[in-house]
Amino acid sequence: MTRTQLVMANWKQQGSEPALTQWLSEVSVPDLAELSRVLCVPLPYLAALRQQRAALQSAVLAGAQQVSAWTGGAYTGEVSAAMLREFGVAYTLVGHSERRQWLLETADSRRAQLAALWQQGITPVLCVGETAVQHQQGQTVDVLWQQLAEVLGPQPAPGPLVLAYEPVFAIGSGQPLSAPDAQQVHQKLRQLLQQWYSAADCQQIRILYGGSVNSNNAAEYLRYPDIDGVLVGSGSLQADSFNALCLTVQSAIRERQVAQI
Ligand code: PEP
Repeated sequence: MTRTQLVMANWKQQGSEPALTQWLSEVSVPDLAELSRVLCVPLPYLAALRQQRAALQSAVLAGAQQVSAWTGGAYTGEVSAAMLREFGVAYTLVGHSERRQWLLETADSRRAQLAALWQQGITPVLCVGETAVQHQQGQTVDVLWQQLAEVLGPQPAPGPLVLAYEPVFAIGSGQPLSAPDAQQVHQKLRQLLQQWYSAADCQQIRILYGGSVNSNNAAEYLRYPDIDGVLVGSGSLQADSFNALCLTVQSAIRERQVAQI
């Protein structure tokens, strides 16, 4: 297995510049070989993130939580993919359920965001997930299929992608989906992706689990072969708990590697 595992911190609309400086200095040590770490900050903090990453020679990568569907022009308040790239952004969330719900982002907008990010060489992290009702009614796979198809379109060969499977009812609720249940969905997602990507490419696409992950439960997810990391909201805000989470994830990855030998 060659996929580099990924732990993404999503600060949402939280934090401050001093908090970022302190977090980054505490999280940049230790340097973890087995996994990439990404911090998705609110847009105004991208400049400080770039500066601090350079000063600390931090391995933590820069992420954004949103991008404009337009590449530039008279769109007040929007921030383009080219602007994100100027600040060293490597990954950007697209279609987080909170933006679907509160910002009413449409499938057209998500599709355009993917295109804009690909144009700038930024990897989109496409968030997909069903609601509690859809889950109870056994519609999970249909919903996920729809959420992929509406943005990846009819043609094969879209650009590089990370998927984040986030059941809506698990986000911020303290009620995570169990790791075995998440593995089943991830395996299915990898199969669904074959509509757009070659079988070999599907083996390279990272699929993260998100929804109430913390340092106590994170390692459990990494024990499963189709779970390539975690997307973490509230469990990422404090540097010490984020460090604990990353260390436990790293141990789980090592155990998984040994088991595969
Ligand atoms: C998220 O914001 O994507 C998320 C998973 O949040 P939390 O970890 O707080 O559930």
